[in-house]
Amino acid sequence: ELWHGPTCAFKDMALQMLPHLLSASLVKNQEEKTVCILVATSGDTGKAALEGFRDVEKTRILVFYPKDGVSAIQELQMATQEGENVGVCSVVGNFDDAQTGVKRLFSDESLREQLAGRGFFLSSANSINWGRVLPQIVYYISAYCDLMRAERIRKGDKVNVCVPTGNFGNILAACYAREMGVPIGRLICASNSNNVLTDFLRTGVYDRNRTFYNTMSPSMDILISSNLERLLFALTGHDDEQVREYMGQLNQTGRYEVSPAIQDRLTRLFSAGFCDDAQTQKVIGRMWQEHHYLIDPHTAVAFDVLEQYRKETGDDTPAIVASTASPFKFCDSVLGALGVTELAEGTAILDQLSELTGVPVPAPLAALKDKPVRFRETVTRDHMVDQVLEMLR
Ligand SMILES: *Cc1c(COP(=O)(O)O)cnc(C)c1O
Repeated sequence: ELWHGPTCAFKDMALQMLPHLLSASLVKNQEEKTVCILVATSGDTGKAALEGFRDVEKTRILVFYPKDGVSAIQELQMATQEGENVGVCSVVGNFDDAQTGVKRLFSDESLREQLAGRGFFLSSANSINWGRVLPQIVYYISAYCDLMRAERIRKGDKVNVCVPTGNFGNILAACYAREMGVPIGRLICASNSNNVLTDFLRTGVYDRNRTFYNTMSPSMDILISSNLERLLFALTGHDDEQVREYMGQLNQTGRYEVSPAIQDRLTRLFSAGFCDDAQTQKVIGRMWQEHHYLIDPHTAVAFDVLEQYRKETGDDTPAIVASTASPFKFCDSVLGALGVTELAEGTAILDQLSELTGVPVPAPLAALKDKPVRFRETVTRDHMVDQVLEMLR
């Protein structure tokens, strides 16, 4: 369970550490300016980044989220954010609008100049940042030690790892842990209906030209997994020319096919599978009925894919499943999976799930009720620049 941090999602593990790595390197490099992190978020990342950067020296953070694109709980989590160096603003439209707006800010020369004059420069905190991958390696080592301590395995025994995957950061960290010597057997990549990675790891063909689904595991609703580039870099023996060619093809045609040598390395390391929403619901319900263990939709996808893997291969090696979010972050889906049809509104839905299951609401979510809303601003895409200038006075 990687979700016991301040925002109840696994991204806390890395985003609690990254800001301090960044702040330390600013000092080390004698950087005089203050860094301002700009984030466009569809939910989890924005809140985790806000909590991570909150009141960290020489940093500011400004998060934009789509007005129509996040859940009520997620919006409340961001709107009540504490800290002196934070800002939150919603953007009219969907995630694409927010994301395009932020990209435009990064390439706005005149904004950059004005900010430099005020002692600021812009940076991002997205998941290809090495400072986010690095801290994630640690918990795979720690999980292996936990299994030893619990006498489920002996030192040197192999374990498999199954990870619900979107941008490929979390499972890549497991891959690095393996390279560092943790006896990991197979890396099992679990996807939802957006199963571009399942196909890639099975066939060596990456093809993003397919239908995009909005699923009940939204943090995995991704058709371009940016950290895959880093895996390819490793598997080609750091052949940057070849990787650049693949990424060029991806940009132009949405598709590339790796060489047989690389595909061979891929299939020796990885297994892959996917699980649609109907099956995800069933797994949440069954896990609760059979084990009294409450899981969120992302974690349910991983459990299902692990089970498929075991059935197909007969490989019963002990396995670590990365549980990436608290079920209370996705109350509506989880309640639905438990057979509830009348859902409470706003934060009352947290109590509804807790009363039904007897599982306590995680403290950071329970505290939302009493927190004052600090940020209510909504802007159109064209006015995001004004928000940045307003905040960075
Ligand atoms: C971000 C996220 C994922 C996907 O992790 P990646 O490192 O992008 O593969 C899975 N589950 C949850 C709950 C997440 O927030």
